[in-house]
Amino acid sequence: MRGDIPLAAVDQPGTSRAYHTGAWRLVRPLVQEEKCTGCGLCNLYCPDAAIQVVKSERGSRRVARFNPLYCKGCGICAAECKAGAITMVTEDNAREAAK
Ligand code: SF4
Ligand code: SF4
Repeated sequence: MRGDIPLAAVDQPGTSRAYHTGAWRLVRPLVQEEKCTGCGLCNLYCPDAAIQVVKSERGSRRVARFNPLYCKGCGICAAECKAGAITMVTEDNAREAAK
């Protein structure tokens, strides 16, 4: 009988990459690069490891970038950013802003 009980809920480590949690998203984080200090706090708090701090395309500063495949739009990053550099916007508004 003991063999029928799973040892853990996640019995195959490293499988989370296959789950694109970005498909759940209704809102997404928008970074204002001029406010972002590149501190990486958003990266530490993101539950889906969907943030990287990378070199800006507009200059040498380092800024936060979100991976849309895994960002589920929870807004934790925006709540934790001390610089107020992240705004949560609807997917429709994000598409408009990108035009
Ligand atoms: S927490 Fe805010 S300031 Fe720090 S890297 Fe993230 S977006 Fe930039
Ligand atoms: S909204 Fe949530 S999932 Fe998306 S980058 Fe921010 S903390 Fe991560």
